[in-house]
Amino acid sequence: MALKAMVFIDGAWLYRSRATVFAKLGEENFEVDYARLPRLLCEELANAIDEDISLVRTLYFGTIPSARSSFNTGKQRAFYDFLEATCHYETHIHEVEVGYGENSLADEAWVSMSLASSILYYAAIPSVYDVALLVSDNLVYAPALYAVRKLGKRTQVVSIHTPEGTEQPAGTTLVGKGRVMDFAPIYLDDHAAEMKLVRELRKRICKQCGREEETTWAGTDFFCSECRGKHHRRD
Ligand SMILES: [Zn+2]
Repeated sequence: MALKAMVFIDGAWLYRSRATVFAKLGEENFEVDYARLPRLLCEELANAIDEDISLVRTLYFGTIPSARSSFNTGKQRAFYDFLEATCHYETHIHEVEVGYGENSLADEAWVSMSLASSILYYAAIPSVYDVALLVSDNLVYAPALYAVRKLGKRTQVVSIHTPEGTEQPAGTTLVGKGRVMDFAPIYLDDHAAEMKLVRELRKRICKQCGREEETTWAGTDFFCSECRGKHHRRD
């Protein structure tokens, strides 16, 4: 029987790690295929241990500036909605106050505390998951991973190399730490090419007028260039 897996993504860690993933392909930026990422990690684990893995759910933990902080959060909200609606993640987004100084760690403390609570909560409920894949190598998760493993669940840590492509200095991440993981870590940057979103050009039917047009748009509803133009003129 396939092992049941849940993927826990520390959004702050993933955001910071993206630059190293881009650099691996010699690029400054590209779109990450968020819909594929959890399956990619499960496939990697399945190959490494030669067992079938069934992905139960992906949980994503992130922050958003509070309404009070008067930041324009539209783009961020759209991204989190996309993770929920299109990639079928379960998002846990915490409102944070912004403006207490650059060195404030309040945001990330919320993310990691929230993730640690969930990884342990689901571990304690029978038959939810067999393996937790943690997308972060932050040492702060060590106590949660000890506890998850005490409950008989297995853990897979997803890490990243330094921007120079070497191992992180010993003792600074979960990698090499005892009693926190059951398998060799997966390094995100080793999968940079598979993480890159490749938009396929294909023909789609306009929802408004029914005409067919070539597009790379992969969202649920497609409107042709003419109907989009009319819509904008109305605005
Ligand atoms: Zn149309």
